[in-house]
Amino acid sequence: MPHRTEDGFAEPRVIGMLRRAVEMAKLAVKGEPVNGRRWRRPKRECPPWCAQNHTCTARSGYPSGEHRSPITTRTHRWGRSTATRVQHVEGRAWLSSNISVELSSDPLLAAAQAGFVHLAVEHAVSATLGELEEAAIRVACVAGAALPPGRSA
Ligand SMILES: [Zn+2]
Repeated sequence: MPHRTEDGFAEPRVIGMLRRAVEMAKLAVKGEPVNGRRWRRPKRECPPWCAQNHTCTARSGYPSGEHRSPITTRTHRWGRSTATRVQHVEGRAWLSSNISVELSSDPLLAAAQAGFVHLAVEHAVSATLGELEEAAIRVACVAGAALPPGRSA
């Protein structure tokens, strides 16, 4: 009769479970899945700007994966800003940016600061993107490329 442990398992079964746990741990250390199934999606190449670490969900082949750059953080006299470049595996790309602005302790001034800073950020982004688009059109004209519909040089 096999010896029973406190859990009620026969010792040979417990030993078998431990052996299996050790094998699973070895596979996990090697980066293999522990459920015995292999990940079948093809791994993707990261663009050079991608951090290529745990923040990149595209490398493992997730259908909704995103490449993410290292986070750029700057400290200013008014607060802090962060920015991350992101690109979905299907190509759409964007900049994810966050600013933290210290506001006045005066509630009225704080409300004005919050509203104006938000407007100023929106204006700065619009102006910057507009200037970049105009510069791209000028470069395209010099290169002899066709202008997009509705645009003139
Ligand atoms: Zn990546």
